[in-house]
Amino acid sequence: MSEPVRLLVVEDEAHLAAGLKLNFELDGYQVDVANNARDAARLLARPNGYATIVLDIMLPDLDGFALCRRLREAGNYTPVVMLTARNASEDRIRGLEAGADDYIVKPFHLDELLARVRSQIRRARWERNRGGPAVGGDQLSFGRAHVDFAAHEVSVDGAPLHLTRLEFDLLRYFADNPARVVSRKELLEQVWKLRNYPNTRTVDNFVARLRKHFEVEAARPEHFLSVRGAGYKFVPEGNG
Ligand code: CA
Repeated sequence: MSEPVRLLVVEDEAHLAAGLKLNFELDGYQVDVANNARDAARLLARPNGYATIVLDIMLPDLDGFALCRRLREAGNYTPVVMLTARNASEDRIRGLEAGADDYIVKPFHLDELLARVRSQIRRARWERNRGGPAVGGDQLSFGRAHVDFAAHEVSVDGAPLHLTRLEFDLLRYFADNPARVVSRKELLEQVWKLRNYPNTRTVDNFVARLRKHFEVEAARPEHFLSVRGAGYKFVPEGNG
């Protein structure tokens, strides 16, 4: 018998939380419920972590964005699926910026939420079990960094670095398009998969994150270059 897979549901609407717990349990999971961010933080501090966190945005104390950001800052990379109340791309962007892995809009079909949670668990398990670099996997070295895209492994000066899913996808897109100017619009469409977006500032935020991870001096980038009025250009060999 394998151990049950544990989920954390963070949702203050008691009725919805109970429904989610019941349905996840019917699907074979072991489920804890937190009705607010403080209880969630307490549960998350325990050893034997969760396979995935289902996180509502609207909570009575701290909102889901802030809770997710705190988790990531504390080095906790448990997959997070956010529940958003509106189909606003702004919420989706905020969630992804906070380090969430996926999101689902209320009201949602339970089957879809179950499928998304399963997919997060599969992906996390695959990342954990991949064991060693993939044979013939696509690899990239630039500056102080080495990236094994197939194995989802990134290191800087030999030290492993954890990228959020979106940081990783953005890096991969740059790597697939070296020395070419890519616009913010192209990045939002190809990496974020957005068709409508309130603004393109989120791209700048994420490029700033990549610079912080990989550049010697984030303020004087050598690999992730700004091209005024046009977008960004990734130069693996450096511009120096
Ligand atoms: Ca709520």
